[in-house]
Amino acid sequence: MVPHEGHLMTEERNQESEMTGQILDGKATAMVVREGVAARVAALVADGVQPGLAVVLVGEDPASQVYVRNKDKAASAAGIAVQTRKLAAETTQAELEAVVLELNEDAAVHGILVQLPLPKGLDEQRVVEVISPEKDVDGLHPANVAALVQGVEGLLPCTPAGCIELLDRHDIALEGKHVVVIGRSQLVGKPVAQLALGRNATVTICHSRTKDLAAEVARADVIVAAVGWAELVQGDWVKPGAVVLDVGINRGEDGKLVGDVDFEAASQRASWITPVPGGVGPMTIAMLLSNTVMACARQTGRVETLIEDGLETSRS
Ligand code: NAD
Repeated sequence: MVPHEGHLMTEERNQESEMTGQILDGKATAMVVREGVAARVAALVADGVQPGLAVVLVGEDPASQVYVRNKDKAASAAGIAVQTRKLAAETTQAELEAVVLELNEDAAVHGILVQLPLPKGLDEQRVVEVISPEKDVDGLHPANVAALVQGVEGLLPCTPAGCIELLDRHDIALEGKHVVVIGRSQLVGKPVAQLALGRNATVTICHSRTKDLAAEVARADVIVAAVGWAELVQGDWVKPGAVVLDVGINRGEDGKLVGDVDFEAASQRASWITPVPGGVGPMTIAMLLSNTVMACARQTGRVETLIEDGLETSRS
């Protein structure tokens, strides 16, 4: 059937309004990473080592409970032995630190994660500093922060590492690109900027005092939004062809999750874009599992070597 003119025009309009951005599917990519983690765990188990993760949850924060449950499920599914330590909201700083010190000494535990935020009155920074750096699978201990800055071996924070892994697995290179990071937190903004710098990107870090955010974003080849402000980044700020990583998780008035980027509008200009949910979030958990296995291999003197059809371990 030869479409008449009116039909063609409708088709053209449809094409114009179609999304140009390809979805950076964090959920699917995380599954692939997690399968790899399961294979690495199996290799370690075959070599006589059972990777172990301890998750410490203080108090009753509902969001934290969900996060901890998800981490527990994902780690167990990958074959990691998980123990969750649930402590009362009234736990003192000394009691919490005693639990962490005990886990530091426990040879069956290779990764320790203290779920943040902690209830008011507990000093998060101090707790993080008590964790052995080699078991700090959240990558927040000052020794691991220093390792990241110096570009030497350490453990990387999971969300920033997940952002880079997502790009790597889609062959999106950062070298020579202008990366604009929005947000300068210890957890996301600063480390993701450092990782991008390590990949030879030119990096701009924007924050709450940045004068003209729209103008900064408009120059970006790659945008990493980590603010916690629903749809702060407008679609028309995005340079056509830019890559958009939306780290933000915000709950809209209707209860739905939205990111820091106006997805509908931005996806019509971006070349690649992460959805929320299903983008960076699932990668974070996958990287936690990967860090745990890496920490286990290092602590038990194993070297993980990539071989053609997977991974094998050997003693260093
Ligand atoms: P944070 O509150 O510690 O930091 C927010 C940053 O945004 C600050 O550095 C601040 O300077 C900056 N900011 C605030 N207002 C701004 C503005 N108007 N313009 C530019 N910058 C501004 O938050 P965070 O811990 O880095 O988390 C950021 C978001 O990412 C949150 O929505 C959080 O829920 C989400 N998050 C998601 C994951 C994940 O796995 N997907 C992990 C961690 C955090």
